[in-house]
Formats: sequence, C-alpha cells, structure tokens
Amino acid sequence: MASQLRLRSALALVTGAGGGIGRAVSVRLAGEGATVAACDLDGAAARETVRLLRGRGNEEGVSRGAHASFQVDVSEAGATRRLLEQVQACFSRPPSVVVSCAGINRDEFLLHMSEDDWDKVIAVNLKSIFLVTQAAAQALVSSSCHGSIINISSIIGKVGNVGQTNYAASKAGVIGLTQTAARELGRHGIRCNSVLPGFITTPMTQKVPQKVLDKVIGMIPMGHMGSPEGGLFM
Ligand code: NAP
Repeated sequence: MASQLRLRSALALVTGAGGGIGRAVSVRLAGEGATVAACDLDGAAARETVRLLRGRGNEEGVSRGAHASFQVDVSEAGATRRLLEQVQACFSRPPSVVVSCAGINRDEFLLHMSEDDWDKVIAVNLKSIFLVTQAAAQALVSSSCHGSIINISSIIGKVGNVGQTNYAASKAGVIGLTQTAARELGRHGIRCNSVLPGFITTPMTQKVPQKVLDKVIGMIPMGHMGSPEGGLFM
C-alpha cells in the first residue's frame, strides 16, 4: 500500500544483489518504495534482480522505479570507487541506504587451508566492507546527506564454525569495522549496523555437503534453515 512506502525517496545500493539474500533485500527495499542500484560480480544475476523489481511495479502502490544494475567486484578499490561514481551519475545523488551482501566461502580445515583461500575470503567478505562503507560514507558526507549503512556479517563471526577460520575471521571483522564506523559516522547522520544471519537457504549454503547441513539443522530450535525472505515455514 502507498502508505507503507517508508523508503519512497530513498536510493538503496545493494551489493551481492544477484545472490539469495541480496536479491531478497533488494525486493524488500523496492517494496517499501526505494529505488535500487543492484550490484554484483555476476552482472547477469544483478540484471535479473532488476527485472524482478520492475515486475513488482505492477503491484498496487509500488512504483516501477528506475532501478539499475551494476557489474562490480567490490573487493577491488578502484572498481568500488567507480561504482559509487557511476551510481551518483546515474541517480544524481549518493545512495542513502547501503546494504553489503556480497560474500563468499572457501571452506577447509585450518590444518589444510591455503593462503589463497584465506586471502580471497578476507578480500571479498571484509576488505569489500571497508571499501564500500568508506566510499558510501565519503559520498554522503561530501553531499551533506544522511544515510544508513548495513553490513551483512554472520552468526559464524560470533561463535566460529569448523572448516571456516577464514569466513569466521572475516565476519568477526565486519562486526568490529561496523561498530567503529558507527562511532565515527554518527555525527554525520550516518547509521551503521551489522546483521548476523544464521543459516539461510541460498546458493551459498547449497554448496555445503548435506551431512554438514544436517548437523547444523539439528542445532536450530525451529528445526529448519531460514529463507532469504524471512518466511516462517520456508
Ligand atoms: P550468495 O547467494 O552466494 O550471494 C552472494 C552474492 O555475492 C553472489 O551473487 C556473488 O556473485 C556475489 N559476490 C561474490 N563476490 C563478489 C564480489 N567480489 N563483488 C561483488 N559481488 C560478489 O550468498 P548469500 O547466502 O545470499 O549470502 C549473502 C551474504 O550473507 C554473504 O555476505 C554471506 O556471507 C552472508 N551470510 C549468509 C548466510 C547463509 O546461510 N546463506 C548466513 C550468514 C551470513 P557470484 O555468484 O558471481 O560469486
């Protein structure tokens, strides 16, 4: 309904927008009236997200919006800077909502983990959060705009998980970075928060062996994994 469009004038930048959680976040933000800049390493997946958002424009009270997709590797400093420039050029303003969902896992026991798997996961899951948070905050501060930056961490960043030293370290880093950014950026009217999802059914967890998933599900009080949309029984 039009009265529920809390984000009617917001421009939202979502990274990992072609993936399970990033796409669901994009759909939700657009459903609340935001225009979405859907960004992903997989340009075709980001375009598909925008196609879905435009389809939702037929629903009552929901604008088709001028959603746009961007192909980007957010672990690259130059690419991330260019992304913010492109988004601002496209929409004539910086994004006031930024949700960093881009992420990967390269699981292996600590005793066997390669340096490359360590570096790659830290680059995509943690360095990208630094790059996107910094570039978005700089754009907001220089335009004297307020905003909200949301970084997707993981419950694994708090409790650890066998086979995920790289992933757990990256996600713990996201929490520390975001808490510090919140302290620095609050005076500019920019809120920073991290979200720590539990296990969610997405392409990322579809790669996890079933016997590992069975163990995980055994620890979940509801007895099943969550869905990106947050439905109770999916
Ligand atoms: P997903 O479906 O695999 O989506 C992640 C998306 O990020 C993919 O579209 C991926 O593109 C993209 N991506 C990867 N590297 C990138 C890069 N360098 N630059 C830009 N985009 C990049 O995973 P998801 O489950 O939705 O996860 C989203 C976020 O939630 C991640 O940060 C993840 O760690 C976190 N999380 C997930 C769970 C869970 O259980 N699923 C739980 C807690 C936290 P490609 O497909 O081309 O790689």
